[in-house]
Amino acid sequence: MSKAQETILEIDLRKLKHNYEFIKGKLTENTMVIAVVKAFAYGSDAETIATYLQDLNVDYFAVAYASEGIQLRKAGIHKPILVLHPQVINFKALIDNCLEPNLYSFNVLNKFIDVAQAHKQKNYPIHLKFNTGLNRLGFTYADVTEITNITNTTKSIKVQSIFSHLGASEDDNERDFTLHQIELFNKIKKSFKENSIHKPFSHLTNTSGILNYPEAHFDAVRTGIGLYGFGNSATYNTQLKPIASLKSIISQIHTIKKGESVGYNRGYIANITTKTATIPIGHADGIARSYGKGKGYVVINNQKAPIVGNVCMDMIMVNITNITCKEGDEVIIFDGKHTAAQFAATGNSISYEIITAVAKRIKRVFIR
Ligand SMILES: *Cc1c(COP(=O)(O)O)cnc(C)c1O
Repeated sequence: MSKAQETILEIDLRKLKHNYEFIKGKLTENTMVIAVVKAFAYGSDAETIATYLQDLNVDYFAVAYASEGIQLRKAGIHKPILVLHPQVINFKALIDNCLEPNLYSFNVLNKFIDVAQAHKQKNYPIHLKFNTGLNRLGFTYADVTEITNITNTTKSIKVQSIFSHLGASEDDNERDFTLHQIELFNKIKKSFKENSIHKPFSHLTNTSGILNYPEAHFDAVRTGIGLYGFGNSATYNTQLKPIASLKSIISQIHTIKKGESVGYNRGYIANITTKTATIPIGHADGIARSYGKGKGYVVINNQKAPIVGNVCMDMIMVNITNITCKEGDEVIIFDGKHTAAQFAATGNSISYEIITAVAKRIKRVFIR
């Protein structure tokens, strides 16, 4: 780990391996792992992460949109890729790239079958999503026989898996809600098996579901945030290792006299002589304005330097009055010790949001 000389997102693939093995260690040997690499692999770098996981022999990948799957195919990913939220306009492109759609309504199921037939597909793998309480995407339990009437009579597709998604798997206060989701998914699975000529595999859990509901692993699990080092709980956050560190440097130091202001709209007004450091990272890089005005902080020489005034597009200014430092010194926005989850909390956000927000213009540096 060399010192940053510009703003970088450092990605430690050794930690990715640790996290992958940690999650594998929670599963029985036959449970498949679907690595969720949507949103640029949670803001890191989808191609590098997927290639690395493919070399570790992960079973499946999942992305949100067709374009993300196409990018992975171009990068040489040959493992199956589930597209969680495809749009009808991209169905032909999915088929051209051997990407497997999640079909979650009669509208998209019928439209996909039409496209598969038009392109002379046989047994094209599709996945069916059921709604068990999140009320976001998915068929209902009551739809099963109508679905199987369709999927049993067309040769163009085959049902590769059925799945659902937990809405509160990280929240122990919502245990009853989650147990109800699991029970409903079990019913759906049973009914589907009774009615379908296809024998799909089934999956339900995301990272927190994997960790908190071992009884609900089914045939496969879908892990995203865990691979990137967050377990959504104090215990698991210490056992997983954040793979990404966001670092920058001090561009310039200013001494602000009492009564002077810092930044746009005079967001900070000094009531005593204040030393500030200007850092080349701003809201266009993923540091939202909600972290401004003293809420968020960065770490310089192991000390916390709060953001003063408003976050600019390409810069923040931080208070270094009591910190010994100089221009060119390294600045940590988050790393393994001062985590993205902690940083996010200062702006009323969560790890998922801050890590996926890190702008593409920030250079990714890999440690292997
Ligand atoms: C994003 C997503 C996941 C991954 O969830 P994590 O909490 O990051 O593990 C799993 N399943 C679905 C359907 C998703 O959309």
